[in-house]
Amino acid sequence: MILKRQSSDEPRMRTRLIHGVGHTGRWDYNHHVVPPMTASATFRLESAERGAQAFSEYVADDNDPRTHSPIYIYDRLDEPTRGMLEDNLAYAECGEVAVCFATGMSAISAALCTLAHQGEHIVAHAVLYGCTYSLVTTWLPRYGIQHSLVDMSDMDALRTAITPRTRVVYLETPVNPDLKLIDIAAVRGVINAVNADRDADARVWIVVDNTFATPFCQRPLEWGADVVCQSLTKGIGGFGTDVGGALIGPRSLHREWILYRKDFGGSLSPKCAWPVLVNGLPTLATRMINHQKTAMHVATFLESHPKVARVCYPGLPSFPQHELARRQMTDYRGHFAPGSMVYFELCDAEGLGRPAVRFIDWAAGNAYTLTLAVSLGQIKTLIEAPYSMTHAAMPAEEKRRRGLSPGGIRMSLGLEDWHDIVADLDAALVQA
Ligand SMILES: *Cc1c(COP(=O)(O)O)cnc(C)c1O
Repeated sequence: MILKRQSSDEPRMRTRLIHGVGHTGRWDYNHHVVPPMTASATFRLESAERGAQAFSEYVADDNDPRTHSPIYIYDRLDEPTRGMLEDNLAYAECGEVAVCFATGMSAISAALCTLAHQGEHIVAHAVLYGCTYSLVTTWLPRYGIQHSLVDMSDMDALRTAITPRTRVVYLETPVNPDLKLIDIAAVRGVINAVNADRDADARVWIVVDNTFATPFCQRPLEWGADVVCQSLTKGIGGFGTDVGGALIGPRSLHREWILYRKDFGGSLSPKCAWPVLVNGLPTLATRMINHQKTAMHVATFLESHPKVARVCYPGLPSFPQHELARRQMTDYRGHFAPGSMVYFELCDAEGLGRPAVRFIDWAAGNAYTLTLAVSLGQIKTLIEAPYSMTHAAMPAEEKRRRGLSPGGIRMSLGLEDWHDIVADLDAALVQA
């Protein structure tokens, strides 16, 4: 690829997300404007010597792809389209390296299983993405990895939960679904004190799932997280056509991640990497700026509606952690970036969630702009009922204790004209 003349200023992130790293040693293409989608399960290796070199370089993992073209062997190990996406994702999250997986869950399971081993312990926030919750509570214990679930907005609770066997502190922020925030810098402070007395191989790592915010709205690594997980299926992918996941973190973890991925086998297909590389990441900034404007209009409308009991959106001045939101959720230029997700609860005297069911059923059948579907971060506005859908795996008692009511509705704002979304919400609220 032609190396463009660099101007004296670094391009702004919005520009950089469109043009990517510019020069890549991962693939020799000179005349494409758009990176090619590769489709080769295996790669020709010219000689026994080059074959041997390929394997030894892969395992040693000490070459920088910016200066040294990788010798590709087999898709599951490494391949160009996915590699280019990894370079751009690492840049977007302000991390050293990224490794892409087949789904967000395969990235999260890789993060937890490379950092915590048999006999060790994970401390996680008590409200988690449903599948992460069942991974931690059902599957990891079978491999001898134990857990404690705590409220991570309470630093004393976090400190108390950490044992000599703890290796990972895991959290999402904003928390799915009610968008409560966790102060990453405060968690970093607690973990620094813990790690000060530990050997390097007993240290505690902080892992943050940044799927809800996307790197446009929040870079957890800048606040002291060690590792970021992303579901590329959501806001980064942006169009809802493909599934994928990624881990972003320090170069020191790269070798473990690629070797784990090689053997457990959850590599991102290049056919799924390509739309994220070509469509998703390059439009992230433009999409998020517009999602946020819409989210603010919609949250303000809902807050003023007599049938709505509670609206949670970090951008609203009434949001209980508005100060923390302003500090932690900022775009690449430092402007407040409260994201594209809104959670609200309808007035419900019985407390059985019936108004929410009426609202959702009416919207699902009649509203042009509101689609009843899980997932988020797409160009179409999506609504769902977390209590009975995405968070069904959590025990009811736990949900109630954490403030999740059967009447809660989660919205992922799309790119429709916000007036149309508000009109549909207004009509659905008549039915609630
Ligand atoms: C969707 C999601 C995941 C899982 O990602 P998949 O790509 O569906 O495997 C993990 N965490 C959060 C917060 C999510 O929204």
